[in-house]
Amino acid sequence: MRRLTLALIAGLTASADVHAFAFLCNGVDANNRPGGDGCNQTCSASTAARWEPPQVDFAFDDATRPREESLAEWQSHQTATIAAWNDVSGHTLTLGDAGAASFREFGEINGENSIFWITSTTEFQNQVRASPNSILGVTLAPYNCGSGGRRGPILDADIVMNGTGVFNWDQNSVVSTMAHEVGHAIGFGHPCTDCSNVALMSATSGFDESDVPLFDDQEAVRALYPGTPGGLGTACTNDGQCTSGPCVTVPINGTNRSFCSQTCTTTCPNGMACAAVAGEGDVCVFSNAGIAQPGDACGPPGCVDECTSTIGAGCNLCLDNGNNGSSCFAGCVPSSGAGCGADEGCAPFGCNNNSECGTGGTCTNGACTNIGVCVAGGTALRGQACGGDIGCVAGVTCVTDGNGNNGVCLGLCDGNGNGCLSTESCLYLFSNETTTGACIPAGTGVEGDACTDFDQCARGLICLGGTCSQRCDRGFSCGDASQTCTAISGGNGMQFCSPVGGEGEGEGEGEGEVGECDPRRGNFDCPVGDRCDDGECVPGEGEIGLYGFCERDSDCADGLCANGVCTNPCDIEGGCAGGYRCEDDAIPGGLCVPDSCRDDEAICDDGFTCEYSPAQRYVCARGVAGGICNCASTGEQGAAPWSGIAVVGVVGGLLRRRRRLA
Ligand SMILES: [Zn+2]
Repeated sequence: MRRLTLALIAGLTASADVHAFAFLCNGVDANNRPGGDGCNQTCSASTAARWEPPQVDFAFDDATRPREESLAEWQSHQTATIAAWNDVSGHTLTLGDAGAASFREFGEINGENSIFWITSTTEFQNQVRASPNSILGVTLAPYNCGSGGRRGPILDADIVMNGTGVFNWDQNSVVSTMAHEVGHAIGFGHPCTDCSNVALMSATSGFDESDVPLFDDQEAVRALYPGTPGGLGTACTNDGQCTSGPCVTVPINGTNRSFCSQTCTTTCPNGMACAAVAGEGDVCVFSNAGIAQPGDACGPPGCVDECTSTIGAGCNLCLDNGNNGSSCFAGCVPSSGAGCGADEGCAPFGCNNNSECGTGGTCTNGACTNIGVCVAGGTALRGQACGGDIGCVAGVTCVTDGNGNNGVCLGLCDGNGNGCLSTESCLYLFSNETTTGACIPAGTGVEGDACTDFDQCARGLICLGGTCSQRCDRGFSCGDASQTCTAISGGNGMQFCSPVGGEGEGEGEGEGEVGECDPRRGNFDCPVGDRCDDGECVPGEGEIGLYGFCERDSDCADGLCANGVCTNPCDIEGGCAGGYRCEDDAIPGGLCVPDSCRDDEAICDDGFTCEYSPAQRYVCARGVAGGICNCASTGEQGAAPWSGIAVVGVVGGLLRRRRRLA
């Protein structure tokens, strides 16, 4: 009797060794629960299910895609995914492109290995039979238990990519997710739950995820589909075994691994990085090889002595350096400064609670007292007090009053306001400044509101004569065509809209006067795909979806960024999401502004998580978590929740990527 192994039955022993690989018959799920297939067979390279003959062609559906994935991007991601596995040396498996998919049927054995996006939550639930909230992608690859000590061949493989809007695919890698899913489709399980720095087949994705198979993944495909050894990346013990070049030995995740390499000048094939290795010169190494020193670029390669389960003095981390790249940072202990050099400070990791600071850690005032990374200069963060012995971290500057007192770490901005967060206004602090201002947190006052100080008015407005007035210099413009732009006396070139408008005279009164859309409402008055530009809807919108992270309004598809997250007006269907309050006066129709979820994550709706936003507030966001369940090899596994993995926000404005603690 044929029995398909669609359902997972726990019971077989899972491999707990992260320096290994797993097959469909012995992987673990996103909660580190051992899987199995219920077949009465041992699970090994000789008995696991595989494609026979070793050829798999995938058919892609180009018609249905999330809006952040253009057709050209989707097609190039298809090519990159197939190449990621084909380019591995030393195996006989061939992946091909079968052209356009005829079916959108997840798990049907219909002769077509379909890969398609599902953009509807209802369709996702119907086909995958799981909530889309924690699943980036999901694969079904049925096979028979077989007989005589070996499972039957894989019969079919279908992959669903989650395009329902839970995840922003500009912020998550399509290729990494799809290459991982294809890994399931060709016979592999998860070797480990939270090890994206070790294997593409890690059950959860993370900061350091790869778009291509890493050493352990490559060893897996060579074990299941053995071919000719000696090529780039294959395991070796001496140069004589390699046809590609020298056999090099480098630390990977703390263990020395030896593989066939080749010499290089700047770049390497197959996702490898060109790096100097002692005794070998510049050679190609795996992207997770621990080679880069603190201060060096990384990601790839990894850092020497990379921190694993514990962050502290003596180990290093590869993190976003806030300057369009990643660098190795030395780990340290904020409370003592241990681990840092003389001219460095220990910047703590951000946290919501003690558990996010690791075993025995303490979270105080939103920062871990026990874990951090060394940064040049001081440790005070944006908005925190500075002066005396306390310097600011890189990226912000200690701005004092005219007497050199009451310092606060602030961003600096140019004459056009560049450098500020979306929640800040660029203001000249002293009357003789004309080119460099400081970023001051903006208030909520709209045009016409009473004010007593500059920080009570919203971004783009200035408190003038006790009234918030709209600026019309440096990129700001008047909301009403009847206003004229007038210079502010003694205002260093600042101009304001005169006469001062205002909203107080009745709801909706101004709507006819601002064109077909009201720019204060972002792009909500425009069709999807358009933005509101000077009262007119024109093609082109921001790339970040609703409730994703943003720094300024223009980042958001809907044109509204508040407290570092893309939001919506209050007067749309459904109103404000949980954890958001309506500020009636912020914009016509009201603006949904996220409340702080720092002390109570329960205020966030289902599908949202409490995250540290670019505006340095804890907000209910969606699709931006660092620790997300990558996928599973069956729908049942795919239902695994996020499993409470702590997301540690690196504080300091400059380090925005998140990393998980095991
Ligand atoms: Zn998976």
